[in-house]
Amino acid sequence: MEQITRKSLLYKSAVEYADFCLNHVEGCSHGCLYPCYAFLMKKRCGVVKTYEDWLKPKLVSNAMELLDREIPKFKRKIKSVHLCFSTDPFMYGQGEVVESSSRILRKLNENYLPCEILTKGAYPEELAHNGTFRGLNDFGISLVSLDEDYRKKYEPHAAPFGERISSLRKLHGKGMKTWVSMEPYPTPNIWNQDLKEILRAISFVDRIVFGKLNYNKLATAFDHAGEFYTSQIETLKGFCKKHKIECYIKQDTKALVDA
Ligand code: SF4
Repeated sequence: MEQITRKSLLYKSAVEYADFCLNHVEGCSHGCLYPCYAFLMKKRCGVVKTYEDWLKPKLVSNAMELLDREIPKFKRKIKSVHLCFSTDPFMYGQGEVVESSSRILRKLNENYLPCEILTKGAYPEELAHNGTFRGLNDFGISLVSLDEDYRKKYEPHAAPFGERISSLRKLHGKGMKTWVSMEPYPTPNIWNQDLKEILRAISFVDRIVFGKLNYNKLATAFDHAGEFYTSQIETLKGFCKKHKIECYIKQDTKALVDA
């Protein structure tokens, strides 16, 4: 895998539910086509030229050295570190990325820094056997459908949904905290599905974050988005209450349904 170096790694995130963040890979072989906001931004800034370039991840080779320098500097300010917003830390079929992410997690945890991890890949079994990771971290998957046709169309190179869920369930079974990001949740003119079925498949998790689909022409053109997301949020809240799951609705989604 191609490698790059960076001047810094840890930064304060602007995302509403995150604290600090790091991205130790440039690009993402999952190649999501909602479209992917990270890809759009990197293309706009000229960091990545084409979609094909984006699909070839480049590893930040000096990530551990940067952490050695930055952890002492930020340690007192950090409540948690999110991996990742502009790439995927457990990229499907990318062993080098997975190894690098596991090393980074271990280093952060050894410094008593909790991590919040989010992937459209599948978690390796070793994580479930490593005591370092227990208790300190929140392991999450992105999941907005159970339909593999949807996954092939919009998340073409990410892990099959069943694999994501079963890897998360294994971590839950080992006593780890788990969560699901249901974002970007599609409008029914893009994919017609039953939210309850998806929720039933993840009833074991500790937290669900829900957000609407942005930057997609079909979703923007859908006239009943407010009504649709209102009904989905009601369903989600009822389910979370019944199963004692923490529920977080993203601010832009809340703003849409409150309008
Ligand atoms: S997994 Fe995330 S970073 Fe990777 S292509 Fe999909 S949306 Fe973009």
